[in-house]
Amino acid sequence: MLGNRDNLKLKIVHVSSSSPLTQTNQDYEGFNATRVLKHEQEHVHEVHCSRERSRTAWKIIEEYLMPFVEREHFPISSKCRLHPNNDLFRDQEQHKIHLDINDWQCGYCKKSFRAEKFLDQHMDSRHYNLLDVNGSKCLADLCGALHCDHMMKTKSTKAKCNPAAVARNHHLCESLADSCFPTHHGPSASRLHELFLRQFCDAHSCSGKQKPFSRGGKKQTGVLYLAISILTMMLLPVFYLIVYLHQRDMRMKTQELRRIPQVKRKAKGS
Ligand SMILES: [Zn+2]
Repeated sequence: MLGNRDNLKLKIVHVSSSSPLTQTNQDYEGFNATRVLKHEQEHVHEVHCSRERSRTAWKIIEEYLMPFVEREHFPISSKCRLHPNNDLFRDQEQHKIHLDINDWQCGYCKKSFRAEKFLDQHMDSRHYNLLDVNGSKCLADLCGALHCDHMMKTKSTKAKCNPAAVARNHHLCESLADSCFPTHHGPSASRLHELFLRQFCDAHSCSGKQKPFSRGGKKQTGVLYLAISILTMMLLPVFYLIVYLHQRDMRMKTQELRRIPQVKRKAKGS
């Protein structure tokens, strides 16, 4: 979060050099969220949207919703807040190239970084002008409905349930289902509407009976596949080793059997 604040200072310097808004901009300095300042016809457009939480929200959509949407061949409307166009950071995130574990590259200017967070800071400071801050396009705002905290494991499981917050998230969740998958748009929209409620909205209750993403997603099958592959790769050499040892054992036994009559013959001859 410190990095964001540093970037913010950079932005403030940038804006204040071109406009007399230093005083108002400095007021934003205390906030943690990534802030993008944009002035348009003497108005300051200030968007505060967490890149990290937006990324988590996107990951959730990609893993736990998109596989079902793709299966239904349902075109998500751009009016739906889950549509990729409604993610402020989508374009920048797509321009992040992960070359190796410690090698990240900026797709706009090809500069290299050894960790994703440094590339994030670079995006915030160097390419913030590429962010489309018009309208409400902050995917992180949907985090309450999409269970980002559950995904990021930021909330302790022992935390007390807040009924008001749960009700708010449940309402947001249902409104997303209604706007993204309107039931009057046909059977596939109805099925996805139902799925969305089960997958995301049911878990917004204090009873704790329902877990988020109850219908599963892409990642789970991916992990299973990976686990099976690794297990097979590990067991294969063990299998060959057993076969080899067994065959060697057999060979030694037959050699021993051949040697015994020879020894007997020698004893008779002498
Ligand atoms: Zn760059």
